[in-house]
Amino acid sequence: MKEIILIKLGELVLKGLNRKNFEASLVRNIRHRINKLGNFDIRVAQSTITISPKGEEDLDEVAEKIGKIFGIAAYSRACVAEKKMDSILAACPEYLADDLNGVKTFKVESKRSDKSFPLKSPEISAEVGAYIMEKFSHLTVDVHNPELVVTVEVRDFGAYIHGSSIQGAGGIPVGTGGRAALLISGGIDSPVAAWCMAKRGVELFPVHFASPPYTSERAEQKVVDLLTKVADYSGRMVLRIVPFTKIQEEILAKCPEELFTIIMRRFMMRIAERLAVDNGCEALITGESLGQVASQTMRAIACTEAAVDMPVFRPLIGMDKTEIIAISRKIDTFEISIQPFEDCCTVFTPKHPRTKPNLHFVEQAEEKLDIEALVEDCIANVRLTKIGYYHSAE
Ligand code: ATP
Ligand code: MG
Repeated sequence: MKEIILIKLGELVLKGLNRKNFEASLVRNIRHRINKLGNFDIRVAQSTITISPKGEEDLDEVAEKIGKIFGIAAYSRACVAEKKMDSILAACPEYLADDLNGVKTFKVESKRSDKSFPLKSPEISAEVGAYIMEKFSHLTVDVHNPELVVTVEVRDFGAYIHGSSIQGAGGIPVGTGGRAALLISGGIDSPVAAWCMAKRGVELFPVHFASPPYTSERAEQKVVDLLTKVADYSGRMVLRIVPFTKIQEEILAKCPEELFTIIMRRFMMRIAERLAVDNGCEALITGESLGQVASQTMRAIACTEAAVDMPVFRPLIGMDKTEIIAISRKIDTFEISIQPFEDCCTVFTPKHPRTKPNLHFVEQAEEKLDIEALVEDCIANVRLTKIGYYHSAE
């Protein structure tokens, strides 16, 4: 029996004139994500996307990928029958035997988008319902609160039959919300921030600051591993690794110790913004959460933000650590984040960081540094790593 995946579009059905763009982005994202799993025919019609394998492709893996693509409200696996009543009747009990055996109550819902089909929707439901009752004598119909809804959709290319649908990842398709530079550390927060923004359609442009030899290759690999998990949701991306040691050593040598972290963070923002502008990004993303550490007080955040002009998105700003951890477990980044490899932020942490830095003093302290030359030097030595690409030639 031929099986397909039926996808119900999420919020994007509401988007009026933009809808065609949203659908095209979603189809492109789906194509990229399932490309390596085989050959599929992907079509859009009447707010539904159908994925049909061209051969014997395994739909388990496809369904797993689909469950992580933003812009999908719900999806279901369905069997395809000929658009004839006897084919539909034969397919229902066979395809849904396990589901029907596992419940006591059911109902049938039908949709007929091919108006040339001779029976109307209520007539299809009645016939299919009666036939199922005949084959599964333990079942009763409950139209208000059934354990299982059997759906029959008579569409252009066939009749589709399925049981309950599975909730999708929600959100809107990545790429429809612009592109933003993501400041990604190896911690718990920034991968979660990445996921939050990708859910709102933002394409990610990740930037990581590394401080060799104080930070190791393992620490960089950790960031790659984290982003590989995020890429299941956000799609592929290219990581920029910025060598940051020289800047940190300069700050350490020339600025007051208690301002070290804030000045370092201002450099991160400046460099990320420069890369962002050069690569068509319109915002920066960080994993900051208000009050979590000394550099995330309201005053410290204001000081950091003053170094750049771009909008800075902080999707975790009002979340507790427990809420952030719950998402990191859901997206499977938590176990990677807690691996104990040093981050460039932790290498030179001052004993008494300023929790209420004064921007004037910070700017005064920075006068001892050649900001432009330091930033330029970092940008010139950025390294690129591809994340989530199947073939290096892509
Ligand atoms: P995380 O869990 O994301 O590491 P954190 O609570 O440890 O967050 P900080 O180390 O103060 O917080 O960093 C705050 C934010 O600054 C991070 O969420 C991230 O966006 C950015 N950041 C920190 N370190 C780096 C780094 N090495 N490279 C890129 N961005 C960084
Ligand atoms: Mg960190």
